[in-house]
Amino acid sequence: MDVALAEAQAAAARGEVPVGAVLVRGGVVLARAGNRTRELNDPTAHAEMLVIREACSAESSERLSGADLYVTLEPCPMCAAAISNARIARLYYGAADPKSGGVAQGPRIFDHPQCHHSPDVYDGLQEAASAALLRGFFAGRRG
Ligand SMILES: [Zn+2]
Repeated sequence: MDVALAEAQAAAARGEVPVGAVLVRGGVVLARAGNRTRELNDPTAHAEMLVIREACSAESSERLSGADLYVTLEPCPMCAAAISNARIARLYYGAADPKSGGVAQGPRIFDHPQCHHSPDVYDGLQEAASAALLRGFFAGRRG
């Protein structure tokens, strides 16, 4: 989770919404990234999507069975669907996202009958640090 937080901080330094993600399997980091939607002009370039793409590409596989995903913010519906499609085993996230989250609120993607794979979900990991990064970022933008 510390790696995910570091990626979120790096995203903030780039002017991106500070969300970071890291994919791990058996103690080995498969990929790590922060949001790059602005830099890449890509609304799908969320931290989760970037690490899933990178790890799948590196493994020449559309699935990441047995992998754990750590992300500082509750994934949105798009990322939750990608996590399911990638067959990620466990999802650990920090802050809840009442506005755009798709796991514990809103569409609750993993609870849908059409969702064919649900990871084990662990929320609230370093929640305070994750939320503080986001608050600081948006407070800075308003100021
Ligand atoms: Zn997302």
